Amino acid sequence: MEHFGCLRCGREVEPGNKSVAVYMFAQTVGIRPRQKSAAQRICFCPQCSVSLAMGPVPEGALNVAAWEMLRDLVGSDPALNEAAWENLRGIIGLLPATGTDGRSRRPPAHGYFEF
Ligand SMILES: [Zn+2]
Repeated sequence: MEHFGCLRCGREVEPGNKSVAVYMFAQTVGIRPRQKSAAQRICFCPQCSVSLAMGPVPEGALNVAAWEMLRDLVGSDPALNEAAWENLRGIIGLLPATGTDGRSRRPPAHGYFEF
């Protein structure tokens, strides 16, 4: 059984967990014999999906294509937003009650996919 991590934050996404899967494959056109590459599966956790979709247009044609797909999902139904919100609530619940040790947060990630 394969395990996938979120491409952006690396969080493990178990099969069946709420996430967004992006499938990509390449195929030759106008060339015989026609060739088709193996499909790649890329995963994003709900938070990263929503965050990327809300973020600025990334650079690069593939990144823009993926960004538009995420925007399509996030913009068409609030279910993905709700999944992100539920995950966020779960994480906050796991933090120690003190939680004020002043540890600096990670710098904000770029709305940017790395292929
Ligand atoms: Zn993520």
